[in-house]
Amino acid sequence: MFKKVFTAAGLATVLVWVVSAQSDLKSVVDKSMKAMGVENVKTLTISGEGGDGAVGQPYSPFSDRWRWTANKNWVRSVDFDAKAWRDVRDRSEGESANQCGGAGTTCPAPSQNGAVAVTTANNFSNQIQFAMLPLGFLKMALEKNATVSKEKKFTVLSFPMENGTAYKTNVKGFINDQGLVERVETMIDNGMLGDIKWDVTFSNYKDFGGVKFPTSIVQRQGGPKILEMAVTDVKANQPVDMTPPAGRGGRGGPGGAAKGGDGKGKGAPPEFAGGGAGKGKGGPGGPGGGGRGAPAAIESEDLGGGFWLVTGGYGAVVANFKDYIIVIEGPSGDMRADQIISEAKRLVPGKPIKYVINTHMHFDHSQGLRDFVAEGATIITNQGNKGYFERALATPHTLVPDNLQKKNPKPKIKVEYVGDMKKITDGEHEIDLYKVMNSTHNSAMLMAYLPKQKILIEADEFNVLNPTPTAPVANPNQYQINLLANIERLKLDVDRIIPIHLPNPATRKVSLQELKFSAGKS
Ligand SMILES: [Zn+2]
Repeated sequence: MFKKVFTAAGLATVLVWVVSAQSDLKSVVDKSMKAMGVENVKTLTISGEGGDGAVGQPYSPFSDRWRWTANKNWVRSVDFDAKAWRDVRDRSEGESANQCGGAGTTCPAPSQNGAVAVTTANNFSNQIQFAMLPLGFLKMALEKNATVSKEKKFTVLSFPMENGTAYKTNVKGFINDQGLVERVETMIDNGMLGDIKWDVTFSNYKDFGGVKFPTSIVQRQGGPKILEMAVTDVKANQPVDMTPPAGRGGRGGPGGAAKGGDGKGKGAPPEFAGGGAGKGKGGPGGPGGGGRGAPAAIESEDLGGGFWLVTGGYGAVVANFKDYIIVIEGPSGDMRADQIISEAKRLVPGKPIKYVINTHMHFDHSQGLRDFVAEGATIITNQGNKGYFERALATPHTLVPDNLQKKNPKPKIKVEYVGDMKKITDGEHEIDLYKVMNSTHNSAMLMAYLPKQKILIEADEFNVLNPTPTAPVANPNQYQINLLANIERLKLDVDRIIPIHLPNPATRKVSLQELKFSAGKS
């Protein structure tokens, strides 16, 4: 396969290599298909169980899985000619009790039996998903005219892929000496983590009526698992139905980090889904930012005493301390962080932004932190995140360079930690930071209290209900019950709550009574 051809002319050598690689590709793919018994396979019906994860929304920053949804009675039917697949599965909470994570409004998340989603490999991420099946990979390698090389015991097929106009990457698949595809990997951009590896490992191949198929499929994105399936049965060439489910496509896969907050206010796009997004809405990402439709104007509300609320997306609070500015929350990404930073500088000219306070590590609440780092800011977060941001925010962002990548490709991330409580004051201004105890949303959650203004700033523990309750609600959400318990435990005198996911209109005053009603209390 890889005869080295030595000639006097370098050009001739190159030509020989190209021709040789093309014939190699066909023979490698043929051999692999034969080894797996899939030469004549048009469809596969794969049964098993497992789960999938919502990127950027884990309960703990150090979890080995993204925020997990369990899939039982999972049947994935793949039509390889149509490059489409249908998932039918019973979906339920995949995290432990009272430790759910984000990307949902309740803990535990509601179960859904027989959830149906049909996905077509019509965009970048779904094409990668298709390539993350052994036969899907071989078909794409042929179609994309993959190059062939050798890495240790593996024959490696590699082809380029474009994510729209955003960036180019490569997809690589590793075929072992028995002709079985063992691994497929690529590098993708994640707004928070930068260049991350998305890979799938196929192991414990078994013979299912002549077709060899892995009984273990594990996909990881940026480290944690994003999809896992223990395969119990595979049938080839069964009829498969790619009719989209009725309505909005059932519940799609879980969303990734929410992309809202720059005024788009939508959830995560379906291409972030781990287990194949449904048609239509995609998964429930984090709640969107302020506005829907056109980006809201960047405005700020004077909270008094040198504090302002910045609206027009995810909320942030600017504090004018004696020698510097403190900003509470660096959400969404460069676009929103740029808006908050320029508004802070307009409100408080001539002072540096020394600190940015982070409520929790969910990506929609921390994806703007790198932009604050580019401004020289130190991050303040709960000690439960110790070591996380130093590593997560220092990663290269070469596929889609952000402000920090352009300014300082090897940044040192400065982080200060808060335990259960920390008071920050210059004698005149004061911010009290408290850990939210027993949060079911995130293991290291901070809320900020401004004692002079009697304002509590919190993220995701209370996103206002619609309509606004005027009496105790039935079946209150655990998030709200727990936030109220924290406020009562600390005996905080709260006149107003500012949820980082701002109400509508953004400057509407959310009272403690509104939280009480939302928590089912009078
Ligand atoms: Zn969250």
